Order: sequence, then structure tokens, then C-alpha cells
Amino acid sequence: MSKVIKHYEYLHTIPEIGFEEVKTSAYLADQLEKAGFQTTSHVGGTTGIVGVYDSGTAGPTLALRADMDALGHVIDGVHCARHTCGHDAHSSMVLTAAEELIKEKAIQKGRLKIIFQPAEELGTGALAMIKGGAIDDVDMLLGLHIRPAEECKTGQAIPAMYYSASGTIETVIAGVPAHGARPHLGVNAIDAAVGAINAVNAIHLNPNFSYSAKATKFLCDSGVTNAIPAEAHVFWDIRAQFNSTMDELRTKVLQAIQTGAATVGAKAEAKVIKEIPAAELDEEMTAILADSIREALGDEGLLKPFSTPGGEDFFFYTREKPEIKAGFFGLGVNATPGLHHPDMHFDIEALDSGVEILKIAVKKILG
Ligand SMILES: [Zn+2]
Ligand SMILES: [Zn+2]
Repeated sequence: MSKVIKHYEYLHTIPEIGFEEVKTSAYLADQLEKAGFQTTSHVGGTTGIVGVYDSGTAGPTLALRADMDALGHVIDGVHCARHTCGHDAHSSMVLTAAEELIKEKAIQKGRLKIIFQPAEELGTGALAMIKGGAIDDVDMLLGLHIRPAEECKTGQAIPAMYYSASGTIETVIAGVPAHGARPHLGVNAIDAAVGAINAVNAIHLNPNFSYSAKATKFLCDSGVTNAIPAEAHVFWDIRAQFNSTMDELRTKVLQAIQTGAATVGAKAEAKVIKEIPAAELDEEMTAILADSIREALGDEGLLKPFSTPGGEDFFFYTREKPEIKAGFFGLGVNATPGLHHPDMHFDIEALDSGVEILKIAVKKILG
């Protein structure tokens, strides 16, 4: 059994949700330390880990980042943590690449830094690591994610994953209660929510760039059916391919919610409760990853860069420190039926290719 599969098989048995990756991070920190990295635990007061290997020769600091958290599922009525997004695979590949690079004395210049971050699924893990100083000295940063089979198959990889910006907006709509027989004396929060939803659905941005905004949760229950409900809660999921499009979309959605609710005389309080920035990738890093994929998997294994409406909190690192040159690749592992599906499974043998791609890329930069 290869080293990466050994790490994976252990981590897969101890899934832990965001900021609770206690056993996972203890294992990763211990292995990193043994491999020769100067390791810091509890980065930013979390389960995050940073390991540093200094070659002693001048050069850039290159960081490899993997996420550690599992998802919380309800399976057969029972709440449980399960690795259905492959973060156990990411940690195993980055750890194995780190171990083998040191063993092979492949780091000839600069510093190799390993970042194991918590809580990617919560969208706040990267921010905690940034606060803890994890990227203060980082010049270049590489990340990866396994891909669903329909995007990328085993034996293939994508040199640049252009994730979209994504956000959640929460709205509280305030109407006026009244008896069902006297609706003219009240302001119906359901009518106001419908006004807000229709106003958001009527937003049109430049269709050359992809975006979407839709209501995804609606709560309104005054407890009876013969009264005018005065309060409703509506949530929207908004996404955009580029950060500039997201800025425009967010502004218009917040405005549309207010004006939509106002058409029936209700007040709406809307706020962004979560937002992840879109990918900002460096062309030089993408070229290095493309060459590394070609060397590891052959010409037929290299796919084109890919845009996805999905989000990835990796891009907080480049938002907070835009001078970092970042690369992010997608690895084909035949993941089915899909990421986040409770039965998600994939070809674990494909993890060896991920280790190979990481090692080749690191050697091109620090070798
Ligand atoms: Zn996920
Ligand atoms: Zn993920």
C-alpha cells in the first residue's frame, strides 16, 4: 500500500467537522514533525497547522495548502461527520508530497511551507489561518481539489480551477399584523417577500459573465392561518464568476430586496452573512501546474482550465494578500455520485497522481 493511501485510510476513519479536527490535526502535525518540518499547531487559535522546511538557501517561500474538515450529514436520521468532499484525500496528498520531497532532499532553495487548514466547508477556515499569520511570509501558494467524474476522470487533471464568488444574504421582512378579515389594516409579510423575490429575479447583469441570485430559504409562520403574518425570513444564494461581477450583483440584490418589499409597504433588513471570493490565479503558477500534470499523466491527462459556480475558501488567501502567486488544480479521481453526496466515493489509487503532480511542481519552484 502506498504511503498516501495509508494516510488516507486512517484520516478517512476519523472524519471531524470544521474547527473540530482535533484527531485529524494531531495526526498531521505528528507526521509533519517526523518528516522534518518545524511544526506549529493551533494556528489562529484553531485546529490549523503550519509546517516549515527551510533549505537554508535564499529563495521564495512556497506553501502547499490542504483542508482537513469533513461534512456534517444526517444519515438514517443520525447526525454524523463524513468525508464527502475529499478533504481527507487533500491532506493525505499534501502530507505525502511533503514527506517524500524532504526524503529525496528535493528542496534546494527557499522554504517549503505546509498549511493544513480547518473548516473549509464553513468558509471561515482560511480566514482563521490568515489571522494566525499563516501566509505572512508566503510568496507562492498551491492548492488542489478532487473533481467529480463528469468534470475530470482518473488519469486527468485540470491546471486551473476558476471557482466563483458565492454568498448568502439573510433578510428579515417586517410587515404589520392584522385580522384575516381586515387585511387592509395590515401589511402581509408573505406579499412583501414575494415582491422582494420577484425584484431579485428581475435583476439583469451583463450576460457575458455568469452569475445567479435565487431565494433558497423562506420562513413565515404567524402560528395561525386566519391572520396577516407580520414577519418573514428569506435567504438568498448569490454567485458570480468574477469578483467585480459579485460586487455589482450584491449591491443590486440588496437594493432589490428593499424596493421589492416596499411595494406593499413592508420594511426589509438584508445583510450578507457569508461570502467567499472568486478565484484569482497566477498565470505563471498555472503554467507550472500544466507542465507538472503533463509530466505526471502525459499529454492526454492535461485538461483545459475550468470555471465552476462552486466556491472554495482558498481564495481568501489571495484576497487578503493579492501579491501571492496562487495556483489551484483539480484532480480526476472518478468521484461519484458527486461531491457532498453521502455515498461519495472515488478511485483512491488516483491519489498517487496528485502526490506526483505536487512534487513535480514544488521541484520546479524550489528544486
Ligand atoms: Zn465541499
Ligand atoms: Zn471541498
